Amino acid sequence: MHHFDYIRGTLYAEGVAISEIAKDVGTPFYCYSSATLERHYNVFKGPFPQDTLVCYSVKANSNTSVIATLARLGAGADIVSVGELRRALKAGVPPERIVFSGVGKQPEELAEALDVGIYQFNVESEAELQTLSDIAVQKGVTAPIALRVNPDVDAKTLAKISTGRSENKFGIPWAQAEAVYDLAGRLPGIDVVGLDVHIGSQITELAPFESAFLKVVEMVTRLRARGHNISRIDLGGGLGIPYQTGNTPPPHPDEYAALINRIVGDLETQIIFEPGRLIAGNAGILVSKVVYTKDTGTRSFLILDAAMNDLIRPALYDAHHDIIPVMQPQAGYAPTIYDVVGPVCESTDTFARARQLPDMAPGDLVAFLSAGAYGAVQAGTYNTRPLVPEVLVCGGRYSVVRPRPSLDALLALDVVAPWLEETAK
Ligand SMILES: *Cc1c(COP(=O)(O)O)cnc(C)c1O
Repeated sequence: MHHFDYIRGTLYAEGVAISEIAKDVGTPFYCYSSATLERHYNVFKGPFPQDTLVCYSVKANSNTSVIATLARLGAGADIVSVGELRRALKAGVPPERIVFSGVGKQPEELAEALDVGIYQFNVESEAELQTLSDIAVQKGVTAPIALRVNPDVDAKTLAKISTGRSENKFGIPWAQAEAVYDLAGRLPGIDVVGLDVHIGSQITELAPFESAFLKVVEMVTRLRARGHNISRIDLGGGLGIPYQTGNTPPPHPDEYAALINRIVGDLETQIIFEPGRLIAGNAGILVSKVVYTKDTGTRSFLILDAAMNDLIRPALYDAHHDIIPVMQPQAGYAPTIYDVVGPVCESTDTFARARQLPDMAPGDLVAFLSAGAYGAVQAGTYNTRPLVPEVLVCGGRYSVVRPRPSLDALLALDVVAPWLEETAK
């Protein structure tokens, strides 16, 4: 479900015409829908008990206005760096709704999060646990922790976004979990509060979740028998979203919730979630303009002003994004088959092959759907292209929530070495 629809023959985000934003901001740009973000948060949170904490996974889309939109609904934040910690705080997420994940948290990051007083550290190794305890002792505090355990289940998603197998770098191996909990119980700077799992991203079946959560129940029972206080379980994120019209959609959040309430309902713990893509994915589009079309005899290319540096998912994961024209095509139009590409000098700068679109001309606008998660956050400046701007729509209003930097600003990031100053003028 999202709020990008054709109205009177042209694409709108809620009450704002995409073509109007394009005229104002230029292309390419990301456009997010507040109503869609809000809807996804509420649909996800709805079926769970009141005290459930939904910590939006900030890395999916970390624009401050996106986080703030969710914070106002009561969302927490799942962060993976001190940069994301500062963003979450700036966006108004209270520290007591922040959990900190990641395999390589550095001592300064742990220290800052302790000073702020976040809700929970999801610790991913024995070495991190020791470091965290030492820092907490120095500060005269204790760190509330859950251990992220690796249940070794196959999430049946793309290999590049699977995290819950024993060969992945994430979490503490299942067989070592009890020993590391016992260590945590003895460390002076550590307060054991829960257990954490996250098995991967864009998971489109319930079975992997079921296997993982059954193992969680078993582990909580064993840990409690060893005297550990497990009052929270963090079940991570990972529920997939529909990317391709016509494909079977992933399970609805209500089915996911029913599974969870059935499996972990009797544990009497608070439940924490870390959804990212499910909240932001279908709440954003990337809008781009046709620069040229080119017919090589064997193929027709649609050459856009957006490139892999703006949206890397197709190049990085072979991901599919539906691409639609901003001007609604006539019913029953005769489609042209295009390979949709960007201007970057790499063959992987190909968004899609053999897509059916109406006949397009330079200046026409297209929209990549489902681009709200892992889109703008992974954008870069390859080929000296300024970072792609972001726009947030709310009803009939819109705001540029990250402006397009000027080329001068991009060039000014470099410093010419003093011995080259004469040459590089
Ligand atoms: C990336 C990540 C998430 C969010 O995953 P989605 O698939 O976007 O829901 C949640 N938890 C952790 C630890 C992550 O690394």
